[in-house]
Amino acid sequence: MSSSDQEPSFRKSVDLMFNRAVALMDLPPGLEDKIRVCNSTYTVRFGVRLRGQIHTFTGYRSVHSEHMEPVKGGIRFSLGVNQDEVEALAALMTYKCALVETPFGGSKGGLCIDPREYTEQEMESVTRRFAYELAKRDLIDPAQNVPAPDMGTGEREMAWIADQYRRMNTSDINAAACVTGKPPHAGGIQGRTEATGRGVQYALREFFRHRDDVETAGLDGKLDGKTVIVQGLGNVGYHAAKFLSEEDGCKIIGIIERDGALTDAGGLNVDAVQAWMAKHGGVKGYPDATYVENGAKVLEETCDILIPAAMEGAIHKKNAQNIKAKLIIEAANGPVTFGADEILRKKGVVIIPDLYANAGGVTVSYFEWVKNLSHIRFGRMQRRQEEARHELIVAELERLSDHLGDKWSMTPNFKEKYLRGAGELELVRSGLDDTMRASYQSMREVWRARDDVDDLRTAGFIVAIGRVAQAYKSKGL
Ligand code: GLU
Repeated sequence: MSSSDQEPSFRKSVDLMFNRAVALMDLPPGLEDKIRVCNSTYTVRFGVRLRGQIHTFTGYRSVHSEHMEPVKGGIRFSLGVNQDEVEALAALMTYKCALVETPFGGSKGGLCIDPREYTEQEMESVTRRFAYELAKRDLIDPAQNVPAPDMGTGEREMAWIADQYRRMNTSDINAAACVTGKPPHAGGIQGRTEATGRGVQYALREFFRHRDDVETAGLDGKLDGKTVIVQGLGNVGYHAAKFLSEEDGCKIIGIIERDGALTDAGGLNVDAVQAWMAKHGGVKGYPDATYVENGAKVLEETCDILIPAAMEGAIHKKNAQNIKAKLIIEAANGPVTFGADEILRKKGVVIIPDLYANAGGVTVSYFEWVKNLSHIRFGRMQRRQEEARHELIVAELERLSDHLGDKWSMTPNFKEKYLRGAGELELVRSGLDDTMRASYQSMREVWRARDDVDDLRTAGFIVAIGRVAQAYKSKGL
């Protein structure tokens, strides 16, 4: 491999993106370093007796920035987890939270484990033990550090973590807020599981509202009818592809998975592919599409929108030149390396960057955390208000009905229809949509207003770093 082919590590890649932005800013001397560095990383090794044998696991929780507390970020279960990765992901959490204005610092955790190799009961023992190790060092705590799901974890793990914390802190009335992404019946919030995919959909809708931006990407018209290739049909990729195809008229022409890829120029049925995967463990053998053994090659197929929703580093220096998509939306964290980003920018590909594109998850996590701390059912206040408003409208209509005579009658189920907008799921969706729109606009403004900024990622970093710097300026270091 020649030296120009070599890629920096994930953390270095994030730092290089940070440096590119910070070079265009005017920060007080020294503050740049303070923001860039990762404050601390805790490594833990612990043993769990499984199947009559002691298994030793290694886990991490990294805190990148405490300019706001609690710090926030998921816990990943994967064999590839290492310190560099967790630190890169923690740094991205800092910038993500700042960009979408969730009042958190950045953190991330991970455990080196392949969850598919263990039974549910074994996973529960391992997860509870890991949670115990973190909680006893305040690395799980509603006021200091609030984990969430990430690759390899979901509602189930978050419920175990919440329960473990509660057992260790029986008098903490805010215990439920120690972790987000819990199942709705166990202190969670409606719409959290789908939130990151929903956020990707809302981000694309917002992008397509700006004709200049669509033209810069060399695309035209609307989101409707666009061809899409998605890499990774996990939680994020599945929901993004499902919503885009079912609600926005996008055609999913390629799905790339671990064991290969599926293509169909006429459009794939996302739910059918997911059901096949759940049954057979992969996409191979799916009857209604063309199977491609070398799945990564499908990243290079012609399409309008490419959605990398799997691992970091999927698009790197060696395949970047071959990418034919005009628009890339980073549903995963860090799917485009620093080197690939440079190549793609020169090619004129527009990239909607991770720190914005996948922020739907942490945004809804914030709603969940606030709901847990307020100890009130989300939407309850709004529902009361809407009920009172509904009564006023009905009274007014009834008063008018004397004048209108029999030409007028009330729509059936008016009350039900009227109040539908005040439920928890609707509040979560509208709050998420609002956040995705507002944060796109703050990032876009920098992209469009400054001659020295020619991409959305640099613009997003500038907005985010500016906000972190502001927090340090107002509260001290
Ligand atoms: N793991 C998700 C992310 O990378 C969610 C983090 C959270 O909700 O705290 O953004």
